[in-house]
Amino acid sequence: MSKLEIKDLHIAIGEKKIVKGLSLTINSGEVHAIMGPNGTGKSTLAKAIAGHPDYTITSGDVLLDYKSILDMEPDERARAGIFLAFQYPSEIPGVSIANFLRAGVQARMADGEELDASGYYKRLYSKMDMLKIDRKFTSRAVNDGFSGGEKKRCEILQMAMLEPKFALMDETDSGLDIDALKIVAEGVESMRGDKFGALMITHYQRLLDYIVPDQVHVMFDGRIVKTGDKSLALELEAKGYDWVSKELASA
Ligand code: ADP
Ligand code: MG
Repeated sequence: MSKLEIKDLHIAIGEKKIVKGLSLTINSGEVHAIMGPNGTGKSTLAKAIAGHPDYTITSGDVLLDYKSILDMEPDERARAGIFLAFQYPSEIPGVSIANFLRAGVQARMADGEELDASGYYKRLYSKMDMLKIDRKFTSRAVNDGFSGGEKKRCEILQMAMLEPKFALMDETDSGLDIDALKIVAEGVESMRGDKFGALMITHYQRLLDYIVPDQVHVMFDGRIVKTGDKSLALELEAKGYDWVSKELASA
């Protein structure tokens, strides 16, 4: 079992304060959703946790299994078990998915440890079967000419191979079609368990048609202003975000 704790986190981009005191704890086995209007700092939160250099954590802490990750470089955070799914994955022409994934798995191994090729392919194929991905897929170049759904499939396969403790999935504004949403949701559900939890960031309620979050957090102006179960997402869908801002104004 693992635990990801975000404690009173403040994040700035340059001089601009974006996240203003956000706390959240996710245990393995749990899926949390963060919803909120555009520009509230959802992507900022995910990128700062992953260690993106443009985002400065001015106070607060992020603990993975009771240890702060804030002094770690992005690759160390990844090795420690944090996975950030990209909203807009890059295309890497000339590099096959099989080789790309292999390099990723190799990079996470200790120095001097060699990847066992037959074991690697066995694991790759079992993950692909689990995610219902055709074997031919891995000979294609990473994201090169991929549809939105194929890019998501490639991201989810990376996630499955790297076996992170926690995934941060930023789906906002990406204009995912229903197939792509289903791929993401099924991938997360297939990994959910005592070794894996996820934070799903979404602008729309649609994703939550395919995944049932344990907790739904509404983010507004850099803070979590409301937390509930899946019914909160349905309420947001019906009433929109104005309802939350009005409630805050009258409180
Ligand atoms: P959300 O994902 O909730 O839509 P973001 O985290 O992307 O919100 O953005 C929050 C605020 O930070 C916005 O005002 C946005 O313009 C600003 N912002 C995000 N990234 C950058 C950046 N790299 N440089 C400057 N401002 C940024
Ligand atoms: Mg965003």
